[in-house]
Amino acid sequence: MTSHPNKVQVLCRIRPFLKDETVDNTISTEGDKTIKVQNHRDPTKELHYTFDACFDSKASQKNVYFPYVKNLVDSVFEGQSSTIFCYGVTGAGKTFTIQGDDLHLGIIPRAMMQIFANGNARNIIYPIKMSYYEVFKENVYDLLRERDSGPGLPIREDSNRRTFVAGLKEELLTSFEEFKKVFNTAAKRRRTASTRLNANSSRSHAVLMIKICSKGNSDNIIYEGQLNLIDLAGSEDNRKTDNNRERMKESTAINQSLFVLGKVIEALNSGAVSFSYFVKSRIPYRDSKMTRILQDSLGGGSKSMMIVNIAPGESFLQDTQKTLNYATKAR
Ligand code: ADP
Ligand code: MG
Repeated sequence: MTSHPNKVQVLCRIRPFLKDETVDNTISTEGDKTIKVQNHRDPTKELHYTFDACFDSKASQKNVYFPYVKNLVDSVFEGQSSTIFCYGVTGAGKTFTIQGDDLHLGIIPRAMMQIFANGNARNIIYPIKMSYYEVFKENVYDLLRERDSGPGLPIREDSNRRTFVAGLKEELLTSFEEFKKVFNTAAKRRRTASTRLNANSSRSHAVLMIKICSKGNSDNIIYEGQLNLIDLAGSEDNRKTDNNRERMKESTAINQSLFVLGKVIEALNSGAVSFSYFVKSRIPYRDSKMTRILQDSLGGGSKSMMIVNIAPGESFLQDTQKTLNYATKAR
């Protein structure tokens, strides 16, 4: 792995076959960094994609969290920014990975437990601050308030040229139980739609933003760190599968914003990026709402990671190949 500070790690996770799915060996891992794609119609066309890490269908939530995610959360206690995206088509396992369920805790509950466990040892100053918003059709909506269908919240710049969402609610939290209650209510407000395969497709990017203040080793230093945990909208191209006009407009916005995100990560990973304002301005942060909001949390010594989720099996092959191509370019 290259060691320049802006490097965005790209990981890939294959979910297991679900019941009712036909099991085959189209997609598999080879070693712990490579995904192998076999084409049964043409066995000469075997493709390999390399990432910073790969997980096969047997990998547990712990296997993802402890070796790869935990240290991004640790950095936040030292005043850094860390951001994690889950990318993939509907049904590929994004929400499972970032959120999980009661029996398989995903990244969000594990990170929050890490934040509230033994905060004294880490000098955390409670309460911590939580915001949770979604970006839907390039509008920003607060998930901590009742849903509204207006134009959403504006993005502003403060006097230090840092971007922020104006008017976003901030919940103050002192325990994991408090967090769980607020989060569960808010998560239900996300925009979803039933598209193909009757899957519940997320039509918005959902961003959980956690701000943590902590005391430095010498008395008068206070760090402020930020953690962004993001469940991206499904990356499938619904323009093909859906002819409904509203869905089409949504898809265009989703495709465009995911394209920009890929370009931003590609620019950060190209190594050509320095900290000067001039060079920074060449990263296309401003071409989508989400990257504009996250601008100060990406690059500049912060830690970021994209987890690319893929579904196994031939029926997802086209989607999987598109996903792997996108992720390879970004990396
Ligand atoms: P997405 O959010 O990308 O649309 P989901 O996270 O909802 O996809 O996953 C689709 C289905 O697959 C869900 O029923 C989920 O529980 C299951 N699933 C996804 N990843 C895994 C995994 N690693 N292990 C077990 N089940 C999984
Ligand atoms: Mg989902």
